[in-house]
Amino acid sequence: MRTLFLPLFAIMLLVFSCSGRTGFEKAAATITSDELREYTMTLGSDNFMGRKPFTEGEKKTVSYLAEELEKIGFEPLFGDSWFQSVPMVEISTKVKGAVIIDAGNESLSLSAPDEIAIESPSMNPIVDLKNIPMVFCGFGIVAPEYGWDDYHNVDVRGKCAVVLVNDPGLYTGDTTLFRGRSMTWYGRWTYKYEEAARQGAKAILIVHETLGAGYDYSIPRKSSITSSLFMEQKEGDVPPCEMTGWLHAATAENLFRMLGYDVDRLRKEACSQDFKGFEMKAAITARLENAHTRNTSVNVAGILRGGSKPDECVVITGHWDHFGIGETENGDSIYNGAVDNGTTMAWAFEIGEAFAALDKRPSRSVIILFPTAEEQGLLGSYYFTANPPIPPEKMIACFNNDMMLAIGRMKDIMVTGYGQSELDDMLAEAVEKQDRYILPDPTPETGMYFRSDHFPFARIGVPSLFARGNCDSRGNGREWAAAKEKEYLTSMYHKPADNYYPEMNFDGIAEDAAATFEVAWRIAESDIRPRWNSMSEFAKVR
Ligand SMILES: [Zn+2]
Repeated sequence: MRTLFLPLFAIMLLVFSCSGRTGFEKAAATITSDELREYTMTLGSDNFMGRKPFTEGEKKTVSYLAEELEKIGFEPLFGDSWFQSVPMVEISTKVKGAVIIDAGNESLSLSAPDEIAIESPSMNPIVDLKNIPMVFCGFGIVAPEYGWDDYHNVDVRGKCAVVLVNDPGLYTGDTTLFRGRSMTWYGRWTYKYEEAARQGAKAILIVHETLGAGYDYSIPRKSSITSSLFMEQKEGDVPPCEMTGWLHAATAENLFRMLGYDVDRLRKEACSQDFKGFEMKAAITARLENAHTRNTSVNVAGILRGGSKPDECVVITGHWDHFGIGETENGDSIYNGAVDNGTTMAWAFEIGEAFAALDKRPSRSVIILFPTAEEQGLLGSYYFTANPPIPPEKMIACFNNDMMLAIGRMKDIMVTGYGQSELDDMLAEAVEKQDRYILPDPTPETGMYFRSDHFPFARIGVPSLFARGNCDSRGNGREWAAAKEKEYLTSMYHKPADNYYPEMNFDGIAEDAAATFEVAWRIAESDIRPRWNSMSEFAKVR
């Protein structure tokens, strides 16, 4: 039902003229550094045993989160339950013997995981690939908005697609090609796996290259020998490729040289719209054995029902899971995840508490969601968006965070995935009042926008923001902040040292929460529907 059609500024005037009555300022003042500290200290304590899915630590964590949601005045989101069951399957793959690539008179015998890093997301216990033809498909991208289709003249059905990492924008530096250096969704390995499956390929191999991947070969190597969690496949889902993985750069170079090609030259040629994929005149043989274990974890979520449009909502997210108890480092075996992602859960609670403290309920509802299994590939948030308790078109915006550093007040607010939607402009207005500025993620080529829980929301068309102060300390400047971030990434990230420390300073996260609360409140209290920018790869969904 549409009542009024007003220009945006008129709506904003109306909203702000009402702000005294709704007690916005008073509500915003409930966001405090002390409470952020309290939540982080609790969630990062050994009591939660590293918050790993399927463990005792999960039980403790999710019941604590539900209790706290109730305390701040939220109701259960899933009927009378705070929990949404997320069924998952863990697959561990063993590669049997060597992987052979035959090319006419010559052949390569490759050993996994050092020369080729392969896994199988298949539900089959044995994947036996015998002489599967290989097809080179450029970047493996089908992107109608860029007039791009790497599969248009090749048939990969039942074959092995070989593709390049990232997207053509990175390698040409041409800002009009895709998004230049900023990685698009088409550059991510996850996208490439999905697209190859849609094309009917039996297997997919990505040619590793450190700049384009954002990490060196040790990362896919390690993950190929570690078991992975997947969502249970449903009827109607496109089945995944039976074998997925990466070719070490040296392996790819050998292979293509054997066939008479040069990888660097191929990459240059593949950056052109006229490039055509081709049959490689090579075939791959590999045998993989899969062990499957089924298990169920939960997403935790609460709702503060809106006053006049309770069926529409804004969503605040931060994953609850971490790595549990594992390999001991410096005498500590509990991977507490105080920063990844205790500080973010604290941020979400403080935003929720502020909403609950308003004199008048906002028109739209507010959902706080703590997804599970983010560290395993955003599985909880993917499950939530695939089985949404509220239709996607009623989710007006999503605000997610991850790894918020407690290093005091910041001048910047770094937007990961800057340029995707109008939420950037709304955030810019809010942080200007805090005397802060928007900073587009300085390393967009790493594709961080596709690596946290807002992303599954983006994929179903919900404009989503991932923003936090990160790079420019108010008191100590940029270099100091960069050193702090580096210190976290090298000595604490995904390590037992990611603990709560008394010297943590929560004043910056408090400002981040206040800015997010303001933007989320403006949306919750109005008819505003933030739009995707036209060149966003998600604009076409909504
Ligand atoms: Zn995280």
